[in-house]
This record gives sequence, structure tokens and C-alpha cells, in this order.
Amino acid sequence: MTVVTKLEPSRAEVEPELTDGFHLVIDALKLNGLTTIYGVPGIPITDFGRMAQTEGMRVISFRHEQHAGYAASAAGFLTKKPGICLTVSAPGFLNGLTALANATTNCFPMILISGSSEREIVDLQQGDYEEMDQLAIAKPLCKAAFRILHAEDIGIGIARAIRAAVSGRPGGVYLDLPAKLFPQVMEMEAGRKSLVKVIDPAPAQIPAPSAIERALDVLKKAERPLVIFGKGAAYAQADEDIRSFVEKSGLPFLQMSMAKGLLPDTHPQSAGAARSTVLKNADVVMLVGARLNWLLSHGKGKSWGEPGSKKFIQIDIEPKEMDSNIEIVAPVVGDIGSCMSAMLGGLGDNWKKPPDDWTNTINAKKEENIGKMAGRLKKNSTPMDFHGALGALRRVIKERPDAMLVNEGANTLDLARGIIDMYQPRKRLDVGTWGVMGIGMGSAIAAAVETGKPVLAVEGDSAFGFCGMEVETICRYNLPVCVVIFNNNGIYRGTDTNPSGSSDVATTVFVQNARYDRMMEAFGGTGVNVTTPDELYSAVSEAMTSGKPTLVNAVIDPAAGTESGRIGNLNPQSTVGKKAGGKK
Ligand code: ADP
Ligand code: MG
Repeated sequence: MTVVTKLEPSRAEVEPELTDGFHLVIDALKLNGLTTIYGVPGIPITDFGRMAQTEGMRVISFRHEQHAGYAASAAGFLTKKPGICLTVSAPGFLNGLTALANATTNCFPMILISGSSEREIVDLQQGDYEEMDQLAIAKPLCKAAFRILHAEDIGIGIARAIRAAVSGRPGGVYLDLPAKLFPQVMEMEAGRKSLVKVIDPAPAQIPAPSAIERALDVLKKAERPLVIFGKGAAYAQADEDIRSFVEKSGLPFLQMSMAKGLLPDTHPQSAGAARSTVLKNADVVMLVGARLNWLLSHGKGKSWGEPGSKKFIQIDIEPKEMDSNIEIVAPVVGDIGSCMSAMLGGLGDNWKKPPDDWTNTINAKKEENIGKMAGRLKKNSTPMDFHGALGALRRVIKERPDAMLVNEGANTLDLARGIIDMYQPRKRLDVGTWGVMGIGMGSAIAAAVETGKPVLAVEGDSAFGFCGMEVETICRYNLPVCVVIFNNNGIYRGTDTNPSGSSDVATTVFVQNARYDRMMEAFGGTGVNVTTPDELYSAVSEAMTSGKPTLVNAVIDPAAGTESGRIGNLNPQSTVGKKAGGKK
């Protein structure tokens, strides 16, 4: 028997307290206020998820990495902090990569963290479990990519990833964490000291006073000015200065899809209902956090009126965005918060509002278009058409302006974007710059998790098919999400026939009269099948009030809808050898 004397040192004094790679990654994220992880567990990150939960992080496990990634990117857009997506190696990494590339394209901050196999085996291509040179593959698809090999570099590695994601033009960052990193041990105190709390991760970028002066000068001389806000303006969270600038200047404005609600769509200066008129006739267009990409026909073509008839001012954080599609006469490079406050300051006391001619033309057109639409939105018919159904959902959001709206599909997207008015900033999440299908459930989950508000996801039946399994995730976490499927039996419409006459159905149609509502019931959520706008309104209102996971199968006339929605011009059609089938 050994006699323990009081003088003998305790174990802690002999062996210093230890930490490891798992805990250092968790501590580094938490230190930087990143407390939610979207991911799918598996080798080598299963234990990581467990420990993150133990350490108080919220870990949302998905059924497929792509949707975890879309959730992380939506979280990035909503919070201005990088959304974190966690995946396993090779296939899981690749699934997450689609979302990372999408985040980068949309300028949303996100960090994809993937476990990876042993470097030595990967580099010699000796065939490891899930072998893949993930870092090399990620690099061209994101803003920055890093690998951490040693536990003592975790603090710096995560700091770099955060800065790369949120500074300047935000985007996706890949962080490669080889399996061997996680169990690496180091002394607790040294580990703690190695962590970095990132100070001012997205520093203000102040525009040059001369650039502001130039822009105001162009604006002052305009006879038919227009401002276009893009999702960069929504992201910037400069809501107050943007509203003050708009109201003080009296300028008419358009809001791009995800910028809707930055100012209410019902604002008297909104030119949303006279979109074609203002795009065509404006003489000066000021872009704020909106790119002149395909979504704005590159700033040229028929929709923009006579070539050379306009001058463009552009406010953006990315200098290379200027002149990317067309000449920008007044580039203003800086963060939107700093730029808008400088523009507001520069308006001065004797700013002249735009000529009455221009505002009157816009208002007349708005009234005409709103009048034309009103009747169609009230139609309470069976089967429903898009307008009748969207009229009902428009009421739901009007009554709940703080609810989140998610929207994807073809006709379902194009028509909902125009019909459902938004009243508050950053309430609308949709297919973004790529027009990618399948963002719906990931976005809805992030919207619920990040905001705690009820979420309405308006989904085409095809779009939903890309992410439908995540309704189980919605039920598992009991999230306040109401999914509405616009079920018209197919892609664009449900009436196409197989031109060859074989018994296979056409490529664009689905099972007729499918009951998506029963998917939700399978996991304990509420499923409702509706056939009229009144039923749709009641079912969705109830779901939004109760906060219970709900899926409403909205039966839409299979003949309603046009091919490719509003972007049929991008869809090439064969002019030879066509027999039957698709209708335009
Ligand atoms: P939309 O599709 O809504 O028109 P885009 O994604 O095309 O919007 O454009 C967003 C623009 O906003 C990008 O050019 C991006 O560089 C810019 N941006 C994003 N965040 C900021 C910010 N904080 N300050 C300035 N510009 C920003
Ligand atoms: Mg459809």
C-alpha cells in the first residue's frame, strides 16, 4: 500500500491540462461568435458535431450536404457573419461545394469546413478512404481556401477564413481539416493563447469624396433618374441611411428580388409596378449593390431603351465590378453603409426632387398595372391558376410583414416575385444570381433558425424535388416552416406528351396528382391538400400562426405556366425534326 502524503503533487500539476483539435476548432468558432453549424455527420467529423453540441453550439444535421450548405449561405446573408457548413470528406465535400460556389456567386459569406483523408496517402494517390485533393478542387470555386495541418494553427486558420469570407466582397471560403488534426493534443493554456478573436472582420471601406461628388453631380442633372437596389444593399444592413436617402432625394427606385422589402414594395416611390417603363426611359440609373449581370440584361438591349440613352452610377465594394458590362460614368467604390451615408450627407438642403413629368409618368403606369393585376389576384377558381393562388399568399405576408419568405421554381418564382409584396429588409430568400433550384428547404431552415420567425416557403413542384427530403429535418427540429408546393404536375406545366409516342411520359412531367402533403405527415408534421385560393389562405394562415411544420399541396391547373417562366429567351429551341411535346 502506498501512503499518499499531503506533499505529493496533484496530477494536474504534473500533467498540464490538455486540449485537442476538436476543442480548438469549436473554441475558435465560438470566440468569434459563430455558434451555429449546418452539416451532415460522418467520418471524420461525427465526434466533432457531438462535441460542438456539448460545448453549447447549435448543430443542425441535414439529410444532404447541399442543403446544409444553402442554409449556411442564407445564414451568412441574413447575419453578415459567415454561415458554417460542416461535411465529411470527398462525396460530402463535393455535395457541399455546390452551395459554396453558389454562396461565392451570390456574395454571401460562408465557410465550408470539410474533414479530409490522410495527406500522405492522398498526395501519393494510394487510394485512401474517400480520397480526394479537396483543397485543390475547392480553390477555383470559392473566394479563398485554406488547410490546417497543426493544432497550434487552428486559431490563425479560422481567423483567416472569417476575414476572407466577410471582408470586401463577401463570399465562400473552404477550410480543409484533415482527420489527423482533430485528435492532435496540445497544452490547454498554449491552445487558448493560439486562438484569435478577429477584430473588425469587415472593415468599413470609405468612398473617395471625389467619387461621391461625381455621382451626385450626375444625379443632379438627371431628368429621369432611377435607383436600383440589389441584394448587396440588403446585405449591408444600412437600412436607415438607405431609406433617408431615398426619401430625401425623392428618387424612384426598383428593388431586385432579394432586396425587396429594403423599403416596402408599397412605398410611394417604388417603381416596381412600372419596371419596364422606368428601365426603358430613365436617363440616369444608380445601382446600389446590384450587378449589371443577366438579371438586368447586362445593362443593354431592348429593355433598356435606346443604346447610349443612359448614364450609370454604381455603388459597390468591388472595384472590378465597374465597367464589367457597360460604361459606368460615376463609380463609387466602398461599403454601402459608408457610401449611402456620404451620398445622404451630400444631398444638402437645396436638393431638387426629380421633375414632376417623370414621377407622374411612373405613377400613371403603376396605377394602370396594379389595376390590371388586381382582378386576377382575386380569382377564387378550381383548379387554381398561379395568380389566384399567389393572391392568397400575398395576403398572408401582408398580414405578417415580419415573416420570412422563401421562393423557388420557374413560374412559381417569377410570378411570386412580382405579386408578393415585401415590407421589411432581408425577409426574402430565393434562387439568387444563378437561379439555382433546390435552395428552398436549406434557406427555410436557416431562416427559421437564424430569425426565429415563421417561414413561408413557396415552391414549384420541381424545385421542391431537389430538396424535399429536408422536410424531415424541419420536423426533427420542429421548425416554424410552412412549405407550399405549387403542384402543376410537372416542370413548367404538367401537360407535355412524349413526342415519340412511347409509353414513357414526357421529360417535363411528374406523377399526376401527387400528394406532397403526405410527405410531411410521414414525419409527424401537418399535411394539407388545397384546391382553392380560400383554402390555401386558411391553411397557410393557420400554419404560420401555429408554427407547426406544415406542407400544403396546392393543386394548380397543369395547363397554367409557361416554359422556363420569364426566361424562355435563354432556353434554346430546336427548329428541326420536332414532332410534338413541349409547348411554349
Ligand atoms: P442582385 O442580384 O440583387 O442585383 P447582385 O448579387 O448582382 O445583387 O449584386 C450584389 C453586389 O453587392 C455585388 O456586386 C457585391 O460586390 C455588392 N456588395 C455586397 N455587399 C456589399 C457591401 N457591404 N457594400 C458594398 N457592396 C456590397
Ligand atoms: Mg411545376
